[in-house]
Amino acid sequence: MTELPAGVPSTLFIGGEWRQASDGTSFPVENPATGEVLAQVADATAEDAMAALDAASAAQLAWARTAPRKRGEILRAGFEAITARAEEFALLMTLEMGKPLAEARGEVAYGAEFLRWFSEEAVRIYGRYSTAPDGVNRLLVTKRPVGPCLLITPWNFPLAMATRKAAPALAAGCTVVIKPAALTPLTTLLFARVMEEVGVPAGVINVIPTTHSGAATGPLFTDPRLRKVSFTGSTEVGKVLLKQAADGVLRTSMELGGNAPFLVFDDADVDLAVTGAYNAKVRNGGQACTAANRIYVQSGIAEEFASKFAAKVAAMQVGPGVDAGTELGPVIDAKALARIDEMVADAVAGGGRVLAGGAKLERAGYFYAPTVLADVAADARVLTEEIFGPIAPISVFETEDEAVELANNTEFGLISYVFTADLARNLRLSERIETGMLAVNAGVISNPAAPFGGVKQSGLGREGSAEGIEEYLETVYVGIGDPFAG
Ligand code: NAD
Repeated sequence: MTELPAGVPSTLFIGGEWRQASDGTSFPVENPATGEVLAQVADATAEDAMAALDAASAAQLAWARTAPRKRGEILRAGFEAITARAEEFALLMTLEMGKPLAEARGEVAYGAEFLRWFSEEAVRIYGRYSTAPDGVNRLLVTKRPVGPCLLITPWNFPLAMATRKAAPALAAGCTVVIKPAALTPLTTLLFARVMEEVGVPAGVINVIPTTHSGAATGPLFTDPRLRKVSFTGSTEVGKVLLKQAADGVLRTSMELGGNAPFLVFDDADVDLAVTGAYNAKVRNGGQACTAANRIYVQSGIAEEFASKFAAKVAAMQVGPGVDAGTELGPVIDAKALARIDEMVADAVAGGGRVLAGGAKLERAGYFYAPTVLADVAADARVLTEEIFGPIAPISVFETEDEAVELANNTEFGLISYVFTADLARNLRLSERIETGMLAVNAGVISNPAAPFGGVKQSGLGREGSAEGIEEYLETVYVGIGDPFAG
C-alpha cells in the first residue's frame, strides 16, 4: 500500500484553525485503485459551515483592503510553493482520485498556474471615467469584490477546480469557503495548508469537507453575508443550487456537465485526429467535463479512423496510477463502475459493436477496460448522457450540415472538437456549433489564460483568463455632478 505524503491535513480549516467537526464525526477517503481507506477526514456539519462563513465574513473587509499587489504576491508565493511540492501533490491526487501520476503532475502544473495567472490579474482590475453624452455629469465606474464566496468543487480535478475558483476570488479581494467533493478532499486540504504557509490570513480561505453537502451548505444560501456561489459539478446539482441561490439573489458561476461532440471530417489528418480523440477521451479516464463523449467521423475516413483509434485504445496500459507506465487508472468508485458497465450493455443491446474493451477488469479497485464502440443507436445512453468513463462511441456522418445537427442535438454546450484542414469550415463551425469552447485540430485546449465555460445547460460564467476575475467583482457606478457648475 502506498503511504499518503506526510503532513496532509485531515481536518476542517476554519478561521485559520485546523479542527475536528463539531459533532466529532469523520468519513473515510478511499483509494479507487485498491478500495483501501487512505484517511479519515472530519465531516463538517451545518454548524461548521456557518462557522466557516463567520470566519470568511470577519476576514472580508481586511482582505478587500489588502493592497492588490500584496494579494498578488501571496498568490504568486502559492504558485511557487505548490510547484516546489509538485511530486507530493501529484502523488496525493493519484492516491485519492486514481489518475496516472503523469496526468496528476500535469494537473499540478495546470492548477498552480491559476495562482500565477491571477497573481498577475490582481493588479489589473480597472474601472473607467468618462463624460456623460450630454456633457454635464461625470461617470466613474469602479469595481469591488463581491464579498464572501462559497466554492463547491467536484472530485475529478481536485487541485485545479479549487485553484480555478479560489485564485480569482482571492485576487479580487473575496474571502472563500471551499466545499471539496467528499471523494477527494485531501488535495484541497493540502492546498489550503500551503496557502496558509505562504501568508493567506486566517479566515480568507476556509475548507469544509462534508458527506452531507446539502444539509451543511444549505443554510449559507439564506445568510445575507454570503454573496456568491461558484460551483463545478453536474448539471443536476447545479440546478438545485441555482434555485437555492435565487432566494438570496446570489451571484452564481456554474461550470456544469458536458456531452462533447468530436467531429472528424474527410479532409482531416487522420493520425492527428486519432491522437486528438485519444487525448480528449481517455485523459483522466474520460472523467472530465471536457471529455469527447460522441465521436462523429465523416464516412470517407470512418473505417480508417475507427481501426487506428481502437488499436491505440486497446494498447493502453491500465493499472494503479502510481505504477510506472500506467496510462489509464481506475474510475472513481463502485457506483461509477456499475454505471458505465450498464451504459456499455445498453449500447450493445441496441446494436452497438465493441471494437475494443467492453468489460470491467476483474481485479481490486474500480477498473474498466478502455472501450471503443461502433454502430451505436442514436438513442443509446452513451450518446445522450455524459459518460464520465473510458468509453468512446464512434458514429458516422455524411455532410457538414448533418455534423452540425448531431453536434447541437444535446442540452449541453461546454466544448466541441473539430478536426478538419479547411479553415473556412472551421470558421463556419465556430459560428454554428452551440458551444462555449471549440477545439480546432487539438484534443486538449484548457488553459488558465483562456475563458473556460459553457452555454446551454453546461453553465453560466467563465473561469480563467481576464473574464475569470470579473466573476468575483461587482461593478459600481458613481455619478458625479457637473464639475463646472456653479
Ligand atoms: P456532483 O454534481 O455530484 O458534485 C459536485 C460537488 O457538489 C461535490 O462537491 C458535491 O459534494 C457537491 N454537492 C452535491 N449536492 C450538493 C448540494 N445539494 N448542495 C451543495 N453541494 C452539493 O458532481 P461530481 O460527480 O463531483 O463531478 C462530476 C460532474 O462535474 C460532471 O457532470 C462534470 O461534467 C462536472 N464538471 C464540470 C466541469 C466544468 O468546468 N464545466 C469541470 C469538472 C467537472
